This record gives sequence, structure tokens and C-alpha cells, in this order.
Amino acid sequence: MLDNEATPNQEEFFYGHIEKCMVCFAHYNVEKQIRQLLKSKLNNKEVPNALAEEIRRKIVS
Ligand SMILES: [Zn+2]
Repeated sequence: MLDNEATPNQEEFFYGHIEKCMVCFAHYNVEKQIRQLLKSKLNNKEVPNALAEEIRRKIVS
């Protein structure tokens, strides 16, 4: 969702959903923070999805 791969409809659904769903909202914020953290560490280069995924799993699960 954060990679601009989602279609406008998917995005609309997603943002509408997280407004009402605390679980997804929390996960979304975790992911956002991970990516910001990694971006600053990687000098604003794109964060590889596999790396973000790995870190997210460690934090969320
Ligand atoms: Zn949800």
C-alpha cells in the first residue's frame, strides 16, 4: 500500500478501513515508522520490500 502499487479504489478502501479498524491502523503506523526509520538510515534510498517486511514481522508478531 505504501509503494504506490495500489489502485485508487484499493487506496480508498484501505484508508476508509483503517479509520474504523484499530488493528489495521496500528499496523499501518508501524509500517510507516519502519519505512521512515529505514529511509533515514539508508540516506533516503528506497527501502527494499523484503527488508521492511522482515523488520515488520519482528515488531508486529
Ligand atoms: Zn482491519
